[in-house]
Amino acid sequence: MKPLTEQEIRTAFVNCTKGEAKRLSVPRDLNDRPWDDLDYLGWRDPQAPGRAYLVIELDGRPKALALRCPNPASWQMRRSMCSICMTTHTGGVSLLVAPKAGKAGQQGNSVGAYICSDLSCSLYVRGKKDAGAGSRIHESLTLDEKIQRTVANLAAFIARVTA
Ligand SMILES: [Zn+2]
Repeated sequence: MKPLTEQEIRTAFVNCTKGEAKRLSVPRDLNDRPWDDLDYLGWRDPQAPGRAYLVIELDGRPKALALRCPNPASWQMRRSMCSICMTTHTGGVSLLVAPKAGKAGQQGNSVGAYICSDLSCSLYVRGKKDAGAGSRIHESLTLDEKIQRTVANLAAFIARVTA
């Protein structure tokens, strides 16, 4: 994906208030992120372990989500599959919950998905990060097809948040 600035990221949030988007922590090392290998940029809040964020460019516009990890300890040692990139980890997948955009979110509605805890789906798909033995089921898809699927899965999740 194309590198984004802090300002572009802050204005891209679809499911939190403008004030929250202004205050939340955006990585300081944006210049050093491996943008060429990223389908989306995801990060955990260093000040609040139960919070995570991600940003992806869809149809030429960045869209960012604020996520909660309701129970950070619950996934430990369980073997589960990331619903975005289809990597299986032992203890490396978290249920991440996104408040819905707009009024539905203010009323407490949210949608959840099981996602790689370190939000590094792009690197697992490309084999740049290893999730351990048996983490990738053998598939006949090409790398490009796996990347397209990852983006499509995340786009579908964002569509549920903004629906
Ligand atoms: Zn993943």
